[in-house]
Amino acid sequence: MYCRNCGKELNPKAEVCINCGVKPLVEKKFCQECGGETSANQEVCIKCGVRLRTMAYTTDGSTMNTNFSGLPPYWQQEFRRILESNEVYKGKWNWPAFFFSWIWAFTKGAWAVALIILCIGTPFSFVTFGLAGIGIAIFMGIRGVYLYYNVFVKDKQMPF
Ligand SMILES: [Zn+2]
Ligand SMILES: [Zn+2]
Repeated sequence: MYCRNCGKELNPKAEVCINCGVKPLVEKKFCQECGGETSANQEVCIKCGVRLRTMAYTTDGSTMNTNFSGLPPYWQQEFRRILESNEVYKGKWNWPAFFFSWIWAFTKGAWAVALIILCIGTPFSFVTFGLAGIGIAIFMGIRGVYLYYNVFVKDKQMPF
């Protein structure tokens, strides 16, 4: 493994580069696999062919997965907008999340929220549970994208 800031070879478990002091996967100047030079908008290393990895860090120092390239374009675009707005933007209205609430949450890996909803409602909770169900459905419609963002990017189960 190589530091993406200075290109020096590192212990793969190193949290900070001992040469430059930066977290190894934050910058975009060198390939983490072969140490070859890379440019900021490159997604794959042209010397060794591996996908370039970039990590961002939250204010509390935990890592964020900012490699969205495996996701469908809709999610890449939404996640980028959320990230670039520093999470002021929290994603647009999501119909699948509105309709399928806990099933949708499960498929996105947001099991904690899915279980909470499951305890109060059904997939079409607005049918069975009247106003409370409508509330859940609307919450999921509004916050669904941000919920998935938290799971995927920050490895956090709750959308706040
Ligand atoms: Zn370094
Ligand atoms: Zn490389």
